[in-house]
Amino acid sequence: MHLKDTYRHKGLRRQLVEEIQKKGISDEAILFAIGALPRHFFLEKAFEEWAYQDKAFPIGNEQTISQPYTVAYQTTLLNVQKHDRILEVGTGSGYQAAILALLGARVYTVERQEDLYHSAKLLLETLKINTISCFHRDGYKGLPEYATFHKILVTAGAIEVPRALLTQLAVGGCLVIPVGKGTQRMMRITRKGESTFQEEVFDKFRFVPFLKGLK
Ligand code: SAH
Repeated sequence: MHLKDTYRHKGLRRQLVEEIQKKGISDEAILFAIGALPRHFFLEKAFEEWAYQDKAFPIGNEQTISQPYTVAYQTTLLNVQKHDRILEVGTGSGYQAAILALLGARVYTVERQEDLYHSAKLLLETLKINTISCFHRDGYKGLPEYATFHKILVTAGAIEVPRALLTQLAVGGCLVIPVGKGTQRMMRITRKGESTFQEEVFDKFRFVPFLKGLK
């Protein structure tokens, strides 16, 4: 691991924050978290130079760390409150989970690929972000033993909305999930009552696929 955060990195991070602000992200706490968290810790050393571009980037196993703008966009829709219990599906590098933790949430994150699960868990432990629990699980099933959650965030492109995730949502809570084949529409589904859900549809994105089963 290469956990050195220099003035240069900090400067690049400030520019990144300005860039996503120009693209329409205005939540101060989210911009602060992105400015504070060294994204280069979540990429391989060789790709450090790419860490502060507003782009998705390969993290191995055919997966990507989401574009910072997308992280900020999904996080905005979640409307994170301190002490929210949040389930994230698709740990990947662990970057999005760390942003949620910096906003004061208690984070449960699940990843289907064992290698990614192990490396993200090790990194988050090394960074001493101890309000995140990592699990090697199929997010299609959610995390029933820790339900319910105030918020659920899916960071892979789903073809359908998994029922299990809706049932693990607290009343008043919401699920943010990109839905669609190829490209996805960002959706927010709010649980209004035991069996009433409200759907909202937002912009188009392109995520790696939400796959069933463990790997
Ligand atoms: N949130 C990540 C982005 C990860 S990309 C980050 O900040 O870096 C999406 C991730 O979802 C991939 O790592 C992929 O392996 C994972 N994924 C896909 N289907 C899944 C499933 N059914 N359960 C858990 N994780 C899944």
